[in-house]
Amino acid sequence: MTSSVTVPPREGRGIRVNQGQRLRLTTPKGSQCADFFAFNAQNVQEYLSCPHTWVTNFSIVPREGTVFLSRFRRPMLKLVTDAADGAHDMLITTCDQFRYELFGHVGPHANCADNLLTSMRRFGYEIPVVPQAVNFFAKSHVAEDGTLSSPPNPVAAGAYVEIEALMDLIVVVSACPFDMDVEGWEVSGGHRHELSELIMDIV
Ligand SMILES: [Zn+2]
Repeated sequence: MTSSVTVPPREGRGIRVNQGQRLRLTTPKGSQCADFFAFNAQNVQEYLSCPHTWVTNFSIVPREGTVFLSRFRRPMLKLVTDAADGAHDMLITTCDQFRYELFGHVGPHANCADNLLTSMRRFGYEIPVVPQAVNFFAKSHVAEDGTLSSPPNPVAAGAYVEIEALMDLIVVVSACPFDMDVEGWEVSGGHRHELSELIMDIV
């Protein structure tokens, strides 16, 4: 069984995590958004759902102790250790080809949605829906008037989260390739930072 997987910059990878195992997700170089998805290994129609998780934890930000629920409201994972100082998000939907085109990009652009689909195909699954990701190592901010922004998120090199599987899972992480120069949108440090790899370890 694979116990360590490197997710190269701009790409996605999957890993099986059995019930009771812990997955450590590390960002070796700091600010690099990790789009995180989890599927029931026995039934990939059941996947981690951010909206079901918000309403049960009374929070739109994952914290130590947060239990992530599936769309069937069953516990899938628990955030056991947060060594990234709370710089996480559950609001920003996964980037796809069209998001880059909306910002004026011409031609194919690596994106987390396609990274997820490709990663699940490596396990033999064609999934019909791209779920709302948990974005580790990426901050979002909601102002009182509802304005949404992604402020600078200084995340230390080597920051990590540790997550316990509460059922047998296929976990997919995409090292978000967002590199556009957009005012108020500093995901992965915006255009100023190099995109980097992420590491998944069973610990
Ligand atoms: Zn992305």
